[in-house]
Amino acid sequence: MRASTLLIARRLAIALLAFFLLLVGAFVYLGQTPPGKLSNDFEQPERISFLAIGDQGSGQLPQRRVAAAMADAAEADPNVRFCLLLGDNFYGHGVTSVTDWQWRWKFESVYSAVALWTLPFYSVLGNHDYLGNVQAQLDYSQQGQGSNRFRLPARQYIRDFGQAAGRPLVRIAFIDTNDTANDFAAARALIKQAFSATPSEPLWRIVVAHHPIRTFGRYRDDTELRKALLPDLIAAKVQLYLSGHDHNLQLIAAPNEPVFAISGGGGAGLYPKTGADTSLRYFNAAHGYLKVDVSASGIHLGLHPLSGEPAYDFAIPRADAHAGNY
Ligand SMILES: [Zn+2]
Repeated sequence: MRASTLLIARRLAIALLAFFLLLVGAFVYLGQTPPGKLSNDFEQPERISFLAIGDQGSGQLPQRRVAAAMADAAEADPNVRFCLLLGDNFYGHGVTSVTDWQWRWKFESVYSAVALWTLPFYSVLGNHDYLGNVQAQLDYSQQGQGSNRFRLPARQYIRDFGQAAGRPLVRIAFIDTNDTANDFAAARALIKQAFSATPSEPLWRIVVAHHPIRTFGRYRDDTELRKALLPDLIAAKVQLYLSGHDHNLQLIAAPNEPVFAISGGGGAGLYPKTGADTSLRYFNAAHGYLKVDVSASGIHLGLHPLSGEPAYDFAIPRADAHAGNY
């Protein structure tokens, strides 16, 4: 064999080896799951806490600052078991697919602190999510994409959390208030289904949605949803209705109605107050989050603004839960 042929053969062998190593490396890298991919198992404790934010999907600094405060809250309280995303998960036009780069930019990398890494994020869809590919958000959840923390099993769903003497501690009906067909017929049906008499009647009844029923911010005059849903919420003895859409923090409590909490300061631009009456207990045009602590004796709500002001606390004692004596 001539020397030049030998040289070519050797170079070819080195090139092949390098290509092979590169291939192995790529397989190892691409085959990796994110650290701590979350399992679908869930304990059922007697006390349960969760953090709730809406209108968070801006990908901007306020979203990251709220996320850092949530991480501190989750680290300080081991009862925090999950988070709620109250819609407008991705500004301005939702996501395009399960591989849209916004998943990393506006969700995975934002809530990446260790204390948040093990928490599922139960979500509802906002109006901005409907400007994009809603099915992609459902698919991302159903396929356990990313860290498997984003949970949106359907456009509307019901889930029980915790237990109290053999009963579910709290049942949450996640409704879709973007579906306005027939006076919100689908949302009304889900509320009825969730809270009609069942063998496993829950101690507490919560409804989670994107749009508020009562608000004293930008959407104060939007009364369609209130007319359609409020009678059903009262009939179903719902004790707490959580929403976003109005970009601020609010607590509204009126006799014989559910307590309304708005946590719309998750990361987008803020909306000011446009009115008030005696039912408005708290309004803060601030970024921040809501913490909810649930036990058999009561629900405790804490609205935590980032502005440095103290948190606003509100309690729904068990004895008053159906009387509306707040
Ligand atoms: Zn909205």
